[in-house]
Amino acid sequence: MGRHSFHVADDADAAGTTSAPTAPTIVAIDGPAGSGKSSVSKATARTLGFDYLDTGAAYRALAWLMLDKNVDTEDAAAVIAALDDFDYSIGTDPDAYFVRVGDTDVTEAIREPRVSASVSAIARVPEVRAHLTEIFRRLARDTQKPGIVIEGRDITTVVVPEAPVRILLTASEEARMARRSAEISTQSAKTVAEQLRSRDRADSQVVDFMSAADGVTTVDSTHLDFEQTVDAVIDVITTYREELA
Ligand code: C5P
Repeated sequence: MGRHSFHVADDADAAGTTSAPTAPTIVAIDGPAGSGKSSVSKATARTLGFDYLDTGAAYRALAWLMLDKNVDTEDAAAVIAALDDFDYSIGTDPDAYFVRVGDTDVTEAIREPRVSASVSAIARVPEVRAHLTEIFRRLARDTQKPGIVIEGRDITTVVVPEAPVRILLTASEEARMARRSAEISTQSAKTVAEQLRSRDRADSQVVDFMSAADGVTTVDSTHLDFEQTVDAVIDVITTYREELA
């Protein structure tokens, strides 16, 4: 397997003054594209002083690497072979987010439409999923904060199904399309909607992120603005902490 550097960007000093006294709280959040899960998860982590792990970024970084090396993303064997060269690092401090492949900063590049269009093909390769899942679990274990918010498609069901707080963040298709097209100014709303729909269709053949698994709390953001959605997520976490106390 290849070398992986996991730079967890945080402000803990050598004496560990910001280390959590108890086991970190793991908050698992799944949802479809455009549900707002990345920005909501990041804001939630910031408010609570937690780390934030964007798992979609790892799939995107791998897709970016395949495109950079001219590997056919539909060719599973070639993708598996290239996994060995996948050296990525991610910032888990919500205020110092970055994604790198080797020495290249790909934070912006992994959002390009060509990456979004190729990512589902690599995400359906079981070896890729197993490889990245191990990385996510290690990053979650290594957090020095009181908790970590991990977001993606299979976090509540596969990556950390034992997480004490598990949330499915949903929104109507209409709301999701509108939000995503407001974010992407380089393409028409129609193109954005078509691409989002086709990515959701491909992704949902691999993992079910449209319905909540047992014990997973659904937060529907269709009629909530950004702050209200963050508050709703924090409420779920607070309820868990109160139950513990
Ligand atoms: O969350 P985001 O839209 O950035 O994810 C990009 C892609 O990564 C998804 O379309 C999906 O193919 C893949 N993904 C996944 N499992 C996750 C997170 C993302 O398959 N936990």
